[in-house]
Formats: sequence, structure tokens, C-alpha cells
Amino acid sequence: MPENPSTYQTHAYDVIIIGASIAGCMSALELANKGWRVAVLEKRQSLQAYKKICTHIIHPYAVNKLKEFGVLETLLNESAQMTAMNIHHQDLSVLFPFKGKLDAANIERSDLDPALRATLLNHKNITLFMGFRIQSFIKSGKRVSGIRASTLDNELMSFRAPLVIGADGRNSEVTKLANGTIKKTDNERIALFSYFSTGTKLTQSHVWSLRQGQEYIGLFPNRQRILISWYLPRHEYESKQETHEQSFKRLINFIAKQGINVGDQLESIIVVKDSSPQSVRLRLNALALVGDTKLTADPLTGIGCTWAMQSAKLLSVCLGKPPSSKQHPFIRSISIQTRLNLYSASHILLFKFTSAFMTFVSMHGKWVFNKPVYRFLAWCTGKRKPNQ
Ligand SMILES: Cc1cc2nc3c(=O)[nH]c(=O)nc-3n(C[C@H](O)[C@H](O)[C@H](O)COP(=O)(O)OP(=O)(O)OC[C@H]3O[C@@H](n4cnc5c(N)ncnc54)[C@H](O)[C@@H]3O)c2cc1C
Repeated sequence: MPENPSTYQTHAYDVIIIGASIAGCMSALELANKGWRVAVLEKRQSLQAYKKICTHIIHPYAVNKLKEFGVLETLLNESAQMTAMNIHHQDLSVLFPFKGKLDAANIERSDLDPALRATLLNHKNITLFMGFRIQSFIKSGKRVSGIRASTLDNELMSFRAPLVIGADGRNSEVTKLANGTIKKTDNERIALFSYFSTGTKLTQSHVWSLRQGQEYIGLFPNRQRILISWYLPRHEYESKQETHEQSFKRLINFIAKQGINVGDQLESIIVVKDSSPQSVRLRLNALALVGDTKLTADPLTGIGCTWAMQSAKLLSVCLGKPPSSKQHPFIRSISIQTRLNLYSASHILLFKFTSAFMTFVSMHGKWVFNKPVYRFLAWCTGKRKPNQ
């Protein structure tokens, strides 16, 4: 945080980004590399803050992005580990990435979020404001021209820019302040997860789909420990007789029967009661959304962090070079809005349809988790027998 924040009050930026997690940091880096002068505001004060409700498989696109921004090496020296996913149904196994190449990674958010934030601090075009929470928009008619934010000490500050980006996640303040419309599809599922010490040394990650995709058990190893996640229908969770600890003992016995031994439980079990996919529509100009703020995917797909990075990239491609200060403000706002319309249309094509398809599959598992379809998928991805 700047020593004297009030000196920044009159600073003009090309773009203000709300939220310094995956989508916010990636948008900042992509745009700053194109010459945009970026202000990033994050409500949490500590640079070490991270999202706790998240497991941690990262797809190959995201792994390559982390490499491009010079973060991957540091993460691999901490807890991160390259991996591939084996998605099992009965005796068949679908591999992702194809042929089981170790191109995905298990990266804990406690390492990932601080590492991304650290890259912002070193960029000459980015100013990071920790401990700043958005309070309201500054508007000219339907166009956003800045924001007001408050510090934890309730000091109010204003920031001005011709473009604002909301990257503040699923329960977005930006969306609420902009009166955005949220469309949610209830996946009627509960997620539970916890960390365990390593027993069997593993590189591969495993997901077991049970009862034709009504229940999933996931196992994601990194260099230091193993994350076990469990997805089950909400009505089964609500009528569950055993404690969470007893349930996890049962899961570990199931995993042992697959030939994998897991060590002791290291952390208490986290319960996520609502992880339903949702998407947001806005009517304010000069305001863009990225990552979970715009579209939250079903967590079963493990795609959220990757999409956060891909939407940041897509936005920066659509926006191109920063607006010229010599342009008349009216012409500048039309030019920015045209580029944002292109972003919205491309986002629908690239993510919304895929997300709707994934949500359908995750809620109607029997269409995928049946012998003929799964045998075909297993054959396509290069392996039929489970791999440890
Ligand atoms: C149970 C579960 C498991 C998951 N597992 C995976 C997985 O294995 N792999 C995967 O890729 N994805 C997974 N996801 C999805 C992933 O967590 C999200 O897609 C990802 O975190 C989205 O990143 P984001 O930057 O858009 O939002 P977030 O990570 O939510 O970041 C939002 C940021 O904005 C800040 N903020 C919030 N409000 C304000 C405000 N008012 N002012 C300023 N700052 C603010 C927050 O502090 C935070 O830093 C999972 C999700 C769940 C629920």
C-alpha cells in the first residue's frame, strides 16, 4: 500500500481493476504489458491472502501462462507439482491431458495467489492497493468513469479511469453495485475437502466417478501433501448420519482399495454448501468483468482458475493498446465500448456454451458415465486401465 494514499487521489489510470487474485492479477499483467497504466485494488490487506475455498488442479493453459509470467519455477520450488488427471468410471479411465502427459499442475492457492501478486509489485505500469474495498462507481450517465473505495480505516478515496474491470470473484460487489443480473444453475451438490499427508508417493491425480456421476472422490497430490475432495448430492449430505471425519475415513478406505495409501489428516474439513455455476450480465458502459465475476464454472471441472486466466487474456486481446489521452473523451469512450462489446460476444462463444455443456454433464452424469460412451472416451484419451 502507498505510504500516503491521498497522493494517489488525483492520479489518472488507464484502467482500474477490482480484485487481486487470479483474474485480477492476470488482467493487470496482460494489459500492463501492452502499455496500460493499471491500478489494482484488493480488499484484503495482506499480500499473502489467498482463496481458501478452492482445490487446486490447474490445466495446461494456465501452467503455460504461469511460465510466461515467470511464476511457475518459484511455485514448483514450493509445493506445486506437475500432474495429469485420471478420471475413473468402473474399470475404465479417461486421461486429461491426453495420454496422461504431466502438463497440468497441482498448485495450492496459498502459494499461487501471493506469487501472482508479487509479480504486480515489480511491474512499472501497475500500482497495487492492498486493503481497498470498492464502495461506489463514479458515473457519467450510463458510463463508468471511476470508483470510490474505502480503506479499513474508513478513509474514502476516488480513482478515475476510462475503464473499470471487476475481478472480485463469485459474490461480486462490483456486480451488486452495477445492478448486474445473475443467472445461477443450482447443481444441488455439496463439496467437502481436506489435506492429508502423503502415504503412497504420487504424481498422477485421480477422480473416481461413482453411481454414474452422482458422487465424485478426488485425490490431488502435490510435493508436500494430498488434497482429497468429495462431491455428493445435497439431499444425501443433509440426511448423512455419520460425521465428516467418519465419511472421510470411508473415502480413504475406498482409495486404499484402489491401491493408494493416504497418511494422516492435516487440516479440518472444509464444507462448500453452494458451488453452483453462474453467469452475470451488465448494463453499464466502460465496465468489464473477468474470471468468476463474469462466469463461475462448476468446480467439478477444475477449470475456474484456467478460465480466469483465459478471460483476462481474451479481454486484453479485445482491448488492444491503451486509449490515447489526446483522443476526445467521447470518442475514447466509444472506442473502449466497441472493444468491450467484442469481448462480451467472444466470451459467450468461448466460455458460456462450454460452461452450459459442462454443467449439463455434471448434473446428468448417466449420459457420460455409461459403458459405451466412457469406453469411447477412454480410447480417445489414450488409456483404458487406471494409472497410479
Ligand atoms: C470447491 C471449489 C473447488 C475448486 N477447485 C478448483 C480447481 O481445482 N481448479 C480450478 O482451476 N478452479 C477451482 N475452483 C474455481 C476457482 O476457485 C475460481 O474459478 C477462481 O478462484 C476464480 O478466480 P477469480 O480471480 O476470478 O476470483 P477469486 O479467486 O474469488 O478472487 C477475487 C479477488 O477479489 C477480491 N475482492 C473481493 N471483493 C472485493 C472488493 N469489494 N473490493 C476489492 N477486492 C475484492 C478477493 O479478496 C479476491 O482476492 C474451485 C472452486 C470451488 C468453489
